[in-house]
Amino acid sequence: YEIEIVTGVQTCALPIFALLRLARGRAMSSAPMTVAVLPGDGIGPEVMDVAVKVLNHAGGLFGKSFKFNHAPVGGAAFDASGDHFPQSTRQACMDSEAILYGSVGGPVSEQHLPKWKDAEKNAVLGIRKAFDLAVNVRPATVYPTLAHASPLRSEIVDKGVDMVIIRELLGGLYFGEHKTEGDKATDVCEYSADQIRRPLEFAFTAAKQRRGRLTVVDKANVLDTSRLWRRVANEMAAQHPEVELEFMYVDNAAMQLIKAPSHFDVICTENLFGDILSDAASVLPGSLGLMPSASLGSSKYMYEPSGGSAPDLTGLDVANPVAQILCTAMMLRYTFALPEMAAAIETAVSSTLAAGICTADIAPPGAQPCGTKAFGDAVCKQLSETHA
Ligand code: NAD
Repeated sequence: YEIEIVTGVQTCALPIFALLRLARGRAMSSAPMTVAVLPGDGIGPEVMDVAVKVLNHAGGLFGKSFKFNHAPVGGAAFDASGDHFPQSTRQACMDSEAILYGSVGGPVSEQHLPKWKDAEKNAVLGIRKAFDLAVNVRPATVYPTLAHASPLRSEIVDKGVDMVIIRELLGGLYFGEHKTEGDKATDVCEYSADQIRRPLEFAFTAAKQRRGRLTVVDKANVLDTSRLWRRVANEMAAQHPEVELEFMYVDNAAMQLIKAPSHFDVICTENLFGDILSDAASVLPGSLGLMPSASLGSSKYMYEPSGGSAPDLTGLDVANPVAQILCTAMMLRYTFALPEMAAAIETAVSSTLAAGICTADIAPPGAQPCGTKAFGDAVCKQLSETHA
């Protein structure tokens, strides 16, 4: 496959799944693009409204139209149907070419209520399983204009932080057998070579298109599954001689992400390590509200912000909509093969941020933050000024 990997707010295109080839043909079609819109809970509906507004605005400028299939997920779905991922929502996803997902879950103090108990797990894992979403792609970039927002010291940030974390999503501890017998509990971690090849294939190609370094993170000094990851990665490395392959234990990787993040280009790892490391990396830019992600399957891709439902911010018009807006750009790039339109949205977001317009989570000290909706309007204005 011909692929494109770029840096900054732009992200990687997909090499491994046949859908990308189909997308090229799709880009030529004048039929509306069908998108399942699953806003979810908390700030999900607020940031999703802004993202859909920006998407429609860009569509108007680029002569493209959308058909949105709105459906509830998480607590919102539970209220209506007693199910966090009901059949009607699954159908809306099946009827759509891509899934735009917000976030799911309630306040910590209410997690015991049936509405919230296991809401995130049931919704996220349900969708992953339903659509065979096997690989998660999460860029973590510190934008120079937002360096003040990063929790890292400036001498670390100044070396450049721009990595992509690729996480296997359908194997490992999450999907192994779980059982408790009295005082003994067991969680099984299993991987097959085929399962490992899917994320690694994407990771090698991504590294080739970026700065050429692939770090496979594992715990091979302890785990057999990690030793299998190493074997498969070493076998695949022969077909990618231009990629510098290295292995790193997960405990060391956790330290290096904070001490020397500029070391990393592409990280590829198994499900649990990827969950933890990608959350750790997502704080480097300064806010969870900045980072989009894509989950790639064999029939459909889902796009979601890296953060959760932020119940503390819900309804206040203060949530950062950047991650959700950038999800629409990832969707245009990967599902609909519209890289110019994707880049237009990405550039409008970075220009808006560079102009000092930003929400409270990333506003420099003393600066006046803008609201969620106002940020979206500023991005639409940027788009109009550049593409009218
Ligand atoms: P969270 O990501 O919702 O919030 C963590 C911190 O980041 C909070 O201070 C929040 O205000 C901030 N934050 C997150 N998104 C932001 C945004 N767009 N703009 C500005 N600030 C933002 O994580 P949490 O508090 O641990 O979890 C809250 C709920 O979200 C829980 O119910 C949890 O289960 C759920 N959750 C859902 C998903 C998902 O749907 N994929 C992922 C993680 C957490």
